[in-house]
Amino acid sequence: MKLFTRQGSEFTGTASISEKGRPFQTVAVNCDRCHVVNGVRVWLMGIENGRPFSRTGFSCWTCGNTGVRRYVEERLYTEAELATVNKSAATRAARKAEADRIAFEQAEAARIAKDADFRAANADIIAKLAGFDGDFWTGFRESFLQRAIAPTERQVALVEGEVAKRSQNASSAFVGVLGCRQRLALTIERIVVLESQFYGTNYITIGRTGDGDVVTYKGRTNIGDKGEIVTVEAMIKEHTVYNGVNQTIIQRPKLV
Ligand SMILES: [Zn+2]
Repeated sequence: MKLFTRQGSEFTGTASISEKGRPFQTVAVNCDRCHVVNGVRVWLMGIENGRPFSRTGFSCWTCGNTGVRRYVEERLYTEAELATVNKSAATRAARKAEADRIAFEQAEAARIAKDADFRAANADIIAKLAGFDGDFWTGFRESFLQRAIAPTERQVALVEGEVAKRSQNASSAFVGVLGCRQRLALTIERIVVLESQFYGTNYITIGRTGDGDVVTYKGRTNIGDKGEIVTVEAMIKEHTVYNGVNQTIIQRPKLV
């Protein structure tokens, strides 16, 4: 009678018979800790440039330098037996695939429900973030939605500050009369210090009037630090629109 391995190839040798009367073959499991190098079996240190090497020349202690780690008995099957075990293996695999599919669907449904809960609980801040353009806010929004962790107080304050700033920006009006010197009370919002070995220290200072109108100064005078409220007398140099915001550019400011 023809016999087959579990993998389905026909067995051509002489089969042994177990105590229970089942046919099997004995298969050598090769040792993975030694190798024949230059005709001598030695304990392997590793692989170098794709070739096994051994600087010690020691015999292999894992397999006693036989090259065989152990022998295993592998069951052999008749054609009918093989068909039966293959069929039950296929049934098991199909059951597992179905269980995996259900588990995946449940996990996916749970994830969607959790995401919907997060979006509902944070609808206000998400709506505000959706209105902010620019790389910083795009990154903030994406990471906030992806991490789905309730916002920290600092994040809420940041978003509220941006809402207030954008609303002020939208209503920012030009200040003063072009070419005239004028007195302005400003809250300093942002200051950029530019150091140059040719031009010395220059400041870009952005402030707001009490009405929220944006006033910008670029030059050598430090008119104040962020958060300070200062009064300056300055020339109204230009009325310009930058990033959609009306700005008044001043020149030669003097602190009053
Ligand atoms: Zn070995």
